[in-house]
Amino acid sequence: MILPKNNRLTDEQVAELTVIVTEFGCRIQPIVGAVRTIYAIVGDERHELMINRLEGLAFVDRVDTIQSPHKLMDIKSDLASHRVKIGTVTLGEELLVMAGLCTIDPKNPNYFYETAHAVQEAGAQALRGGVWKPRTNPYAFQGDNRSLDILMEGSRRTGLPVDAEVMDEEQLRLALDAGVHVLQIGARNALNYSLLRQVGKAIAGKPTAVLLKRGMHLGTLNEFISAAEYIVNFGNPNVILCPRGTQPGLDGYRNHPDESITPLLKERTWAPVVVDPSHSVGKAAYVPACALAAVAYGADGLCIEAHVSPSHGLGDDPKQAVTPKALAELITRAKALHALRRSALPSVSAP
Ligand code: PEP
Ligand code: MN
Repeated sequence: MILPKNNRLTDEQVAELTVIVTEFGCRIQPIVGAVRTIYAIVGDERHELMINRLEGLAFVDRVDTIQSPHKLMDIKSDLASHRVKIGTVTLGEELLVMAGLCTIDPKNPNYFYETAHAVQEAGAQALRGGVWKPRTNPYAFQGDNRSLDILMEGSRRTGLPVDAEVMDEEQLRLALDAGVHVLQIGARNALNYSLLRQVGKAIAGKPTAVLLKRGMHLGTLNEFISAAEYIVNFGNPNVILCPRGTQPGLDGYRNHPDESITPLLKERTWAPVVVDPSHSVGKAAYVPACALAAVAYGADGLCIEAHVSPSHGLGDDPKQAVTPKALAELITRAKALHALRRSALPSVSAP
């Protein structure tokens, strides 16, 4: 990883670096952070001669070689000062609450619009709404391209950024063309490396962020962080890790709630953690407790399914969507707890 003296290098300077690293079988990948650009050396960077020559360049401050499987996502990486911003919220500074429908119903767009306004009123700063859905049963509703327009209209009406899951290249292209702000990679695709690569490439140079869910089958921390590394190494570091419960589930819950991995992630990576309590517990009545537990464990945000009329929802909503009223109470408590944790429990993320 090359740290330049200035915030970014000129094209001529990057060309100079490229000449040197190419001799050693490596290439340069600029990673554009919020404040400055760093230059990853992709390939085996452990060549003393290469490092010495790079460090000898007048415009290079230093060269870091982190011996970590996640060179970019590692807490010791120079991306550690990068802050992911969703709409008006800088993760790590203010608690992000992203809320809305599991699945947009293209025949009843008003449920999405009404929910969008209601969750905004309740204090959410971003909307979620499934356009295409990964369904266990092939005969279940799979989503509809028309819902993308409804999602973006909800964004226009509220002024809030929106999140939607993409599962393949075509959906990725449609979502980016429409201007979706946060691309969700679902638990079922958490280790789909070709999709992770496609997403990483597609968002390079764009302000788009990715909400990366944890693999549903007890994905290890290494798998989770490595999946994020696949995306970030194409140049856009706006990745958020999203624990959402694992299988096998805990009797009575949909999955085994895993908000407690938050401090473990924070020990290893700088990436913000936004917990999804809805899919973790799978029942609206248990969502507030899981959400508060997540904040107590150090989460930077929450992704919550909410619906103005849960029984009329599609996908997971009838069981797990909270009402706007319950969401408003939850957000008030979660924000108070977040403030308390930041002021009174600063060491919660490290033993
Ligand atoms: C969802 O967010 O509606 C969803 C399907 O999530 P997950 O991939 O975590 O199951
Ligand atoms: Mn859902």
